[in-house]
Amino acid sequence: MTENSKGTALITGASSGIGAVYADRLSRRGYDLILVARNRARLMDLAKHLADETGRAVEVIAADLGQKGGLAEVETLLRADAGITMLVNNAGVGATDPLLASDIDKMEEMLTLNVNALTRLTYAAAPGFVTRGAGTVINIASIAGVAPERLNGVYGASKAFVLAFSLSLQSELAGKGIRVQAVLPGATATDFWSIAGTPLEHVPSEIVMSAEDMVDAALAGLEIGEQVTIPSLPDIGDWAAYEAARQKLMPNLSRSVPASRYGVERNKRLLSA
Ligand code: NAP
Repeated sequence: MTENSKGTALITGASSGIGAVYADRLSRRGYDLILVARNRARLMDLAKHLADETGRAVEVIAADLGQKGGLAEVETLLRADAGITMLVNNAGVGATDPLLASDIDKMEEMLTLNVNALTRLTYAAAPGFVTRGAGTVINIASIAGVAPERLNGVYGASKAFVLAFSLSLQSELAGKGIRVQAVLPGATATDFWSIAGTPLEHVPSEIVMSAEDMVDAALAGLEIGEQVTIPSLPDIGDWAAYEAARQKLMPNLSRSVPASRYGVERNKRLLSA
């Protein structure tokens, strides 16, 4: 670990887009880095550039998180390296085709990366964070997690998982010194769109944010203690109202009798009369 380091941030999907901007911003904030993605050459270029500019230690792991072997390598490191103080679960892929036009094998690959890898990496990192009483998990979800009608439904559902998983972790790890943040970017100018099947030029420019602005806003959200950050949402009160409506449901989500509108109790009474 380098001098005055805030510890090491392990960033998945760091070879491009949002992950590469996190790498830049976190190294300038004093983190050493472990950069994970498949494309070793791109990771090495970024690592050299950031190490030269910031003097931080920057390591690279070329691993396919969609494959058991690659994922296990990163899980093992997260369990073993007590210097890791932050996990940025960013690697992910999207799709823009609707269900009837989508290849189910591609959907499964997406779930494996967006859901399975993120879950396993969190399980690898969190116990050490709890033992040490400190650590940060940043999970990159998407606005599609609350607006699944917007893009491919499997993508939206995978990001709804990331949001639900993060909310659950926040509650379970509260008071243990761990920060868990879910970030819900809207459309962001990265390779994501061409890989997902819709070139960025086809997305209305007024809804597209730069990756730099998105990450700067998300890190500002982390600093002010937001558990859910939606970089483009003008009024955070709108999220608070959404969350309050969810909390209002809580006491009635599990009861011994069905709601009266279903007529089940009435029918039972009629049958037994
Ligand atoms: P991106 O530029 O395509 O970056 C995706 C990153 O994930 C790349 O570094 C890629 O690197 C890595 N990756 C892909 N498959 C992988 C695998 N099997 N194993 C390991 N790494 C893999 O897109 P991005 O926009 O920055 O996406 C980052 C995250 O933001 C994703 O979770 C995405 O769902 C989320 N997001 C994006 C947007 C948007 O509009 N761009 C909006 C909301 C949320 P390699 O190819 O080198 O492996």
